[in-house]
Amino acid sequence: MKLSVICSNCKNEIPVGVNAPDLGILRVEYGETINIECRKCENRKDYIINRIYATGNPFATLVTFFISLGLVFVFTFVASFIGINGVYFYGSIGGIPLLIFATVQASQKRKLRIFNSYRV
Ligand SMILES: [Zn+2]
Repeated sequence: MKLSVICSNCKNEIPVGVNAPDLGILRVEYGETINIECRKCENRKDYIINRIYATGNPFATLVTFFISLGLVFVFTFVASFIGINGVYFYGSIGGIPLLIFATVQASQKRKLRIFNSYRV
């Protein structure tokens, strides 16, 4: 999850560079406004924290995907090493990383929904 705000000057999406599960916690830590400089037009301004929204982090999704994929290979390697074989076995082994990936994605979506639905 990545927090962003839209630049009031050039409408570019600015990454806020802080982390919080919801705006309430952000407000406790930073107050009503947060001073952010736009990377594109270098316009520095105080933004009301209600304007901050959460988006998914595509990099984190990619990392999760490759870790899941890596697990498939590790399991397959270990299985062939200890001599386990069979289609059903590989099917179930492949299912575990997929399940992990789906779970991580679902928790990511849930965090986004919580952050974006809660305004202060
Ligand atoms: Zn800007």
